[in-house]
Amino acid sequence: MFDSLKPQPADKILALMSAYKADPRTDKIDLGVGVYKDASGNTPVMRAVKEAERRILADQTTKAYTGLAGDPAYADAMIDLILAGSVPRARVAAVATPGGTGAIRQALELIKLASPDATAWLSNPTWPNHPSIINYLGMKSATYRYFDEATRGVDFAGLMEDLAEVAEGDVVLLHGCCHNPTGANPTPEQWDDIVELLKAKGAMPFVDIAYQGFGDGLAADAAATRLIAGAFDEVLIAASCSKNFGIYRERTGLLMAIGRDDEQVAQAQATLAFLNRQNYSFPPDHGARIVTTILTDPALRADWEAELEETRLGMLSLRQQLADELRQQSNSDRFDFLANHRGMFSRLGTSPEKVEVLRSEHGIYMVGDSRMNIAGLNAQTVPLLAKAIIAAGI
Ligand code: PMP
Repeated sequence: MFDSLKPQPADKILALMSAYKADPRTDKIDLGVGVYKDASGNTPVMRAVKEAERRILADQTTKAYTGLAGDPAYADAMIDLILAGSVPRARVAAVATPGGTGAIRQALELIKLASPDATAWLSNPTWPNHPSIINYLGMKSATYRYFDEATRGVDFAGLMEDLAEVAEGDVVLLHGCCHNPTGANPTPEQWDDIVELLKAKGAMPFVDIAYQGFGDGLAADAAATRLIAGAFDEVLIAASCSKNFGIYRERTGLLMAIGRDDEQVAQAQATLAFLNRQNYSFPPDHGARIVTTILTDPALRADWEAELEETRLGMLSLRQQLADELRQQSNSDRFDFLANHRGMFSRLGTSPEKVEVLRSEHGIYMVGDSRMNIAGLNAQTVPLLAKAIIAAGI
């Protein structure tokens, strides 16, 4: 049977990780994989996470199954963190999922069950797992313009023109904040216009929020998601705790389905529990319990927020340093967009050939579409990257 298996496309980012590992150069710089790294290149366990784990180890009396939707206290805490009362709690169905990816997968399966002919609209570009899962599930998809190659900001006119083609009942996938892979994000006024347009079209928003707290702060990063939650009868929201709690391998996510009324919410809740049962039965609990412990204890929560804020400000200062350095070395302001991008990533906006020159000649690893992980830099490597960018003629 296994002889008939066909090779699947390799994950480009994982292939890049292996190439980086195998590179003997000692001054190589890894801007590839999307994991936060501190100035020494480590991905630390956050202080509040360590303390929550210590408490769980001391106090937990059972490892018996939770519910199919996960621990309700986790859903409550996350709904409050992300939605902050922008929609009544009673309108939100929710299930714990294995990571944000699990939430996206379950959301797409729910869409497929409810509306098999709906088209899912994706930003061009988007996180490659979005189209990959959609294609795997055999769903219809379309793309909307997103990135302006000239300004390296959002191509807002193109986005609005393309989303004007959305049909009633279609699903529009939006990055809640810190767009991956570009780092370019709509302004609050532009979000207002997007919401108005999608409402007029009768489309359903599906928000992927994986970097709350990495851009402009916990509340600011959730603002677009909250606006959308309060504006539509039906919304899907896939959230990830991988980045903002630094618990990547614990696989901690939440899928929320906002419904119009009690009946719809109950139906959505039952379907989400059913989908969990079909795919993996009970969702993982350890990461969810860490998150709940932190969010429900004022002192732990304050410490988590403080460490997250340090992380955010560190990435912002690297962005500013890189933009300043490039301003000086290029004698122009054409790289100022790097300081305006938000989150862990920036799309430099250059060809795969130039990305290859950066790798082969300078030992700088970034994804072929020129996505850079800003957290892969530190104060010492920023000038080296700037020099290499200029030397490569970018
Ligand atoms: N959405 C986006 C846009 C992401 O970048 C990621 C992480 N790379 C995720 C969702 C989900 O991450 P995870 O499954 O690790 O929680």
